[in-house]
Order: sequence, then C-alpha cells, then structure tokens
Amino acid sequence: MDDRLLDILACPVCKGPLKLQKAANVLVCRADRLAFPIRDGMPMMLEEDARPLASDDPLLER
Ligand SMILES: [Zn+2]
Repeated sequence: MDDRLLDILACPVCKGPLKLQKAANVLVCRADRLAFPIRDGMPMMLEEDARPLASDDPLLER
C-alpha cells in the first residue's frame, strides 16, 4: 500500500491516526481498538467493515 495514502487516512470513528500492520494487512486505530481491512490494496474505511480488537491483541502494539 502507498505510504502517502496512509498519511491522509484517519480513523472514521475518532479521526485519529491509523497504524499500518502490514503482516495482517490491516489499519489499526489504537484509540478505538478497531482493525480496518485492506482488500486488493484498498483500505476499507467503514466502521462496519472494521474488526474489533481485544485489549491484549498484538495488533495494538506499536
Ligand atoms: Zn479511531
């Protein structure tokens, strides 16, 4: 995924920054503990597409 695209992406829920987790192919909002999937290189930036993460999910690590 294009890093420049990541710069303009914000969480649709809290408008906060997202962290790209390349191994899992998701964008993670740490504040909301949501993982937004990336399909065919396109981030799915709808809240209903996001997967909730447990507080101890390793995707929440920096
Ligand atoms: Zn958020």
